[in-house]
Amino acid sequence: MADRAIRTIVIVGGGTAGWMTAAGLAAKLRDLPIDIRLVESSEIGTVGVGEATVPHIRHFNASLGLDEADFMRKTQATYKLGIEFRNWGRVGDSYIHPFGAYGATIGGVGFHHHWLRARQGGDPTPLEAYSLPIRAARLGRFAPPSPDPRSLASTFSYAYQFDAGLYAAYLRAYAEARGVVRTEGKVADVILRGEDGFIEAITLESGERIAGDLFVDCSGFRGLLIEQALKTGYEDWTRWLPCDRAAAVPCETVEPSIPYTRATAFDAGWRWRIPLQHRVGNGYVYCSEHISDDEAAGKLLADLEGPALAEPRFLRFVTGRRKKQWSRNCVAIGLSSGFLEPLESTSIHLIQVAITTLLELFPDRDCAQADQDEYNRVMDLEFERIRDFLVLHYHATERTDTPFWAARRAMPIPDSLAYKMDLFRDRGVVVKYKDGFFLEPSWLAVYLGQNVVPLAYDPVSDTVPDAALAQRLAAMRQTIDKTALAMPTHADWIARFCAATPVAAA
Ligand SMILES: Cc1cc2nc3c(=O)[nH]c(=O)nc-3n(C[C@H](O)[C@H](O)[C@H](O)COP(=O)(O)OP(=O)(O)OC[C@H]3O[C@@H](n4cnc5c(N)ncnc54)[C@H](O)[C@@H]3O)c2cc1C
Repeated sequence: MADRAIRTIVIVGGGTAGWMTAAGLAAKLRDLPIDIRLVESSEIGTVGVGEATVPHIRHFNASLGLDEADFMRKTQATYKLGIEFRNWGRVGDSYIHPFGAYGATIGGVGFHHHWLRARQGGDPTPLEAYSLPIRAARLGRFAPPSPDPRSLASTFSYAYQFDAGLYAAYLRAYAEARGVVRTEGKVADVILRGEDGFIEAITLESGERIAGDLFVDCSGFRGLLIEQALKTGYEDWTRWLPCDRAAAVPCETVEPSIPYTRATAFDAGWRWRIPLQHRVGNGYVYCSEHISDDEAAGKLLADLEGPALAEPRFLRFVTGRRKKQWSRNCVAIGLSSGFLEPLESTSIHLIQVAITTLLELFPDRDCAQADQDEYNRVMDLEFERIRDFLVLHYHATERTDTPFWAARRAMPIPDSLAYKMDLFRDRGVVVKYKDGFFLEPSWLAVYLGQNVVPLAYDPVSDTVPDAALAQRLAAMRQTIDKTALAMPTHADWIARFCAATPVAAA
């Protein structure tokens, strides 16, 4: 039988997606006779934002064998226990979406049902009093989770806030040390094979021709291979997520860094704040129908806590996803595969899922249709689940104070989200699914944080006597507070474990 094994992989693009892909493939395929080449153009540059992550990135880094302290020092990273949402349900509201569970089940019934019961009985204690990562975040404290599963301190996770440009550079060094060959140059043309439309080669402006068996399109929003060459098509989701621009600007750090990202609802979108070791990343994601670029930049600059370190950068995007993320012998990873705004810091996570799924389904040179279909099914689900979760943030609002928010509240939502919200409103049921991101605590955080409160709770909760329930709840609160207060401050932990060399932040 002819050898159909892949021998050459060509990655187009050297942003976060390109170098994560190069590092992931180089690590996993290291013992196979496969050449990996990466082409990037420093003249075109990268998006360069993308600083907040979700806990799964720790598995990615671990799969590469990265040393956590070294990685954190080199990327100016801080720890992240969750995201604080301000002004989303109502102006003045604040809640944190934590990386960890709320309370503990009692009598086999999920904790939030008992909390709902206590609330209906007049107990005003907020849900966040039962979350260790939220209590630690609010106190500005951090310690890694305990490896002992019996310990309360094992019930949370964490992610990082880092400089995306430094992360890409870090992974570039890793990938090049493992044989990935980088070529500087601009892709001028993509050559398709006559008989089946597979990509045969790319040519650079220099005239160099680079042939490959498998191409990974990490070229960013433009989708150089997947769209411009293969014309795969794009599914537009702006009817649900209409923000289409962002202004981004870093500023000086003027206070000790906190272990969480902040997303504050503004008049025509929302503003992110991501504290790193050497600076704070800021941006305003907005809807151009409701605010001009100048006005958005003005609002952002006026809200900075310290002096700006650069002029605002403007980015444009269309929320949605590529109709096929794997087509023929081309897999789109990163912004070329679609875009969901960074409200829940999910883009780098989607890059990671894409790399893992590609490696699980790693094809031969024929790229079997079944492999493509399965890959596209998995990625479609990931995108849709995240989309629904993001739409929930906008739709579950009582705000009508600006035209933007009044429209979000009134907009139709995807059927898949309407069904989830109906189930929750009725009796507090959170839809569970096997594939896709965001588990029960995440949905609870946003539902209850934005005042979507169920009419009833699980009746089995009533089998726990009132006094016993009150006692259990009080004990949980005390243990959580005690554990959070015993942690070092976030700043102390960073100073002890992974302090980066101070640099000029701009
Ligand atoms: C406003 C905003 C905020 C974000 N915040 C977050 C966040 O907090 N967390 C998160 O997880 N994600 C976030 N993201 C997403 C994150 O930035 C991206 O997922 C990540 O940077 C990956 O980008 P990329 O590598 O796909 O594309 P890019 O960074 O655009 O890289 C594209 C690469 O392709 C190369 N290229 C393009 N055309 C050619 C050509 N013709 N020839 C040669 N090379 C070419 C470029 O040189 C570049 O190297 C954010 C995105 C935006 C827009």
